[in-house]
Amino acid sequence: MTKDLPEALTGGCLCGGVRYRINGKCRDIINCHCENCRRTHGHIAAYTSVDQSALALIRQQTLQWYHDESPNTYRGFCNRCGASLFWDARDGRNKIAVSAGSLDNSHELKTIGHVYVSEAAKYYEIDDGLPSFETSNSGALESD
Ligand SMILES: [Zn+2]
Repeated sequence: MTKDLPEALTGGCLCGGVRYRINGKCRDIINCHCENCRRTHGHIAAYTSVDQSALALIRQQTLQWYHDESPNTYRGFCNRCGASLFWDARDGRNKIAVSAGSLDNSHELKTIGHVYVSEAAKYYEIDDGLPSFETSNSGALESD
């Protein structure tokens, strides 16, 4: 589900080179287990998702975009401290994923499921009982 938060949510990278504000609804957190997310995040990726227009970059001097060619997506990261921040499909869906770990710790978002568990690594178990999807959740977890 998406949540109207009482105040605009803020977040940023470790070094402060990237800071953002979210002026709108945030989807609850979905963990992505795909190999590409694991390689760039160092473990699974936990993401909220917001409207593109809701994400305001306050500081972006060290924000850089990595073109992930397969699948064709763009990953926003800090080129100074290495933080993984954004995932943007740029396919017209008007949503951008924001890494949950980069959010300032003042929100009530909860983890609601797992995607791409077919690519999960073998060093951990997924045993929290939340809905899991072999690949994309195809919108099943996105409803308002
Ligand atoms: Zn940084």
